[in-house]
Amino acid sequence: MTGDKPKSAYEDDGAASDREAAPVNFIKHIIDKDIQTGKYDGHVTTRFPPEPNGYLHIGHAKSICLNFGLAEHYGGICHLRFDDTNPLRENTEYVESIIEDVRWLGFDWKDNLYYASDYFDRLYTYAVQLIRKKKAYVDSLSTDEIREFRGTLNEPGKKSPYRDRPVEENLALFEKMAAGAFEEGTCVLRAKIDMAAPNIVMRDPTLYRIRKKSHHRTGERWCVYPMYDFAHCLSDSIEKITHSLCTLEFVNNRELYDWILDALEVYHPQQIEFARLNLSYTVLSKRRLIQLVEEGYVNGWGDPRMPTLSGLRRRGYTPGAIRKFCDVIGVARRDSMVDISLLEHCQREELNVSAPRVMAVLNPLRVVIENYPDGEGEMLEAVNNPEDASMGTRNVPFSRVIYIEKEDFMEEPPKKFFRLAPDREVRLRYAYFIRCRGVIKDEHGEVVELRCTYDPETRGGNTPPDGRKVKATLHWVSERHALSAPVRLYDHLFRVENPQAANDFRGHINPASLTEAASAKLEPALKDARPGMHYQFERLGYFYTDPKESTDDHPVFNRVVTLRDTWAKIRKKQNAGG
Ligand code: ATP
Ligand code: MG
Repeated sequence: MTGDKPKSAYEDDGAASDREAAPVNFIKHIIDKDIQTGKYDGHVTTRFPPEPNGYLHIGHAKSICLNFGLAEHYGGICHLRFDDTNPLRENTEYVESIIEDVRWLGFDWKDNLYYASDYFDRLYTYAVQLIRKKKAYVDSLSTDEIREFRGTLNEPGKKSPYRDRPVEENLALFEKMAAGAFEEGTCVLRAKIDMAAPNIVMRDPTLYRIRKKSHHRTGERWCVYPMYDFAHCLSDSIEKITHSLCTLEFVNNRELYDWILDALEVYHPQQIEFARLNLSYTVLSKRRLIQLVEEGYVNGWGDPRMPTLSGLRRRGYTPGAIRKFCDVIGVARRDSMVDISLLEHCQREELNVSAPRVMAVLNPLRVVIENYPDGEGEMLEAVNNPEDASMGTRNVPFSRVIYIEKEDFMEEPPKKFFRLAPDREVRLRYAYFIRCRGVIKDEHGEVVELRCTYDPETRGGNTPPDGRKVKATLHWVSERHALSAPVRLYDHLFRVENPQAANDFRGHINPASLTEAASAKLEPALKDARPGMHYQFERLGYFYTDPKESTDDHPVFNRVVTLRDTWAKIRKKQNAGG
C-alpha cells in the first residue's frame, strides 16, 4: 500500500533510554527531529481532544499543558476539539465546563474550536469510500457474536459470514443503517483488516454503530455514529494536526489510526503516546468521578475535595500552580504515581509570595490578660508578607481578652511541647510575651479559659531588656475585635494512596475529608475579604474565600493547603537515601 506511513514514534529514535532518564521531554525530541527533516513542513499543530462526558480533572490539565505548551514552544497552534461522537453520555453542560476550565488554566485556542460532530458528514463519506475500496463491510452479526468471533490473545478470531458482501450490498445496507431502517445492535460497519491479527484492535474493528439517540449538537440528524477510533484519526487529519498526543492506553490503537489514514490516503498525523497522570489519594477517571457525584459522596463536580479543575479552582488552587505542577512532573512514557504533596507544594510556593498573612484562630480558647487594663486597647504593627516588603504592614488590635488555639495550650505538657502551659511564658506574634498564671475549667474538667499576665517591656513581641527567651510564638485574635466566619478544612478524599487499585474504590473514602471550624475567630483586617481572595492564616495554612458561598459581608474560607510541606520532606529523604 502506501510506502510513506510514518514510523512509530518509538522506532524513529534510538535514544530511548536517554529519554527515559530525562523526562524533559521525549516528545520534543521527536518534534525537533520532524522539524529537522522537514516532515509537516516544520509546522507544529496539536490539539486537546476531550470527550464532553464529564468535567476535566488534573490529569486532563497535564494533557492541556502539554499540547498547548508544545504549540507555544514551537510557534504553532493548539486546537480545542470536542470528541463528541457518543450521544449517550455527552451534553452541553460538560462542553461549557470544559471551555471554562481550559480558559481558566490560561490557554487560548484562538479561532480553533472544533467539534468532531461537525465532521459527521465528511466521516460518513470517508466510510463510504472505505466500502468502495473493499476495506469496510456491514456486519449483521449480533454484538455478542461479534465479541465471540473476535478470538483472544492466544487464539485468532473467526471471519464473519457477512465479511464478503459485495460492495453494492454494503453501500445499500450502510445507507439504510444511516436512514434508520435498522434497530440498534442489529448491524455495524466494520473495517476489513485481519481476523487473525496479533493486535486484537485490528480484528475488523467496528467503525460505525446505530444509536437512535439525539445528539447535543446534531440533534436527530444522525442515527449512526462513528466509533472513537474512526472519528479521532480522521478529525486529526481534517484539522492537519501534526503530532497527535494521547495517553498510553492507546498504544495498540495506533496501528488502527495509521491503517485508516493510509487506507483513505489522506493527510497523516503522527500519534505519540505518553503516560497519564496518576495522583495519590484521589481518583482520576471520569467514570469514577461520575460515581462520586451521582452517588452523593461529594457535592457535585466542583466540590473542593474533587481533583477536577472546577473543584481545585473552588478550593483555591490557582492556574499558575497547576501549570507549574504539570511542568515539574514532566512527560514520560512509563506510568507512575505522582504524590499529591507535590501539587500542594507547587501551590504553597506560589501563595507564599503572593498571599497576605493574617491571624485567625480556628479552635478558640479564651485568654484573659489580668494585668492589661480593662476597656483599653492598642494597635500593633504586623507585616503583611515577610517575603515581599512592598506588601506593607497593617495594624492589629490588642486588648485584655484574646483567643489562642486550644491546641496551643496543655495543662500537663509532654517533653517536646513548647507552647503554653501553666507558669510558662510564650510570645504572642507581633504583641507581647505572656505567662500562664491560672486555668479555669468547666464542670467536665475541660479548660475553658486561661488567666495570664503580659510583660509590657516585650511590645511588638521583642525580647525584654533582661534577655529572656521563649520557645514558642503563638497567633491570637482580640476577642472584642474578632470577626467570625466558617472555615472549611479539607483532607485527602481517600484514605489510601491508590484507591483506583481497590476492588471498590468507594470503600476507601476518607470520612474526615471535610471538617468545619464553625467558631473560628478572625482578625478584623479580614473584613476586606471578598469572594475569591487568598490569605495565609499564620501557622495554619493558605485559605481562599469560597467564590460560591462567600458574600462581600460574609466570607466562607476554604483551606487550600496547610503549611506542612510534606513534599520537601519526601525529597529530603530521597536525597539522603541517594
Ligand atoms: P478519563 O480516563 O478520566 O475518563 P478520558 O481519557 O476518557 O479520561 P478524554 O476526554 O478522552 O478523557 O481526555 C481528553 C484528553 O486528555 C485525552 O487526550 C486523554 O488522553 C487526556 N487525559 C485524560 N486523562 C488523563 C490523565 N490522567 N493524564 C494525562 N492525560 C489525560
Ligand atoms: Mg477518552
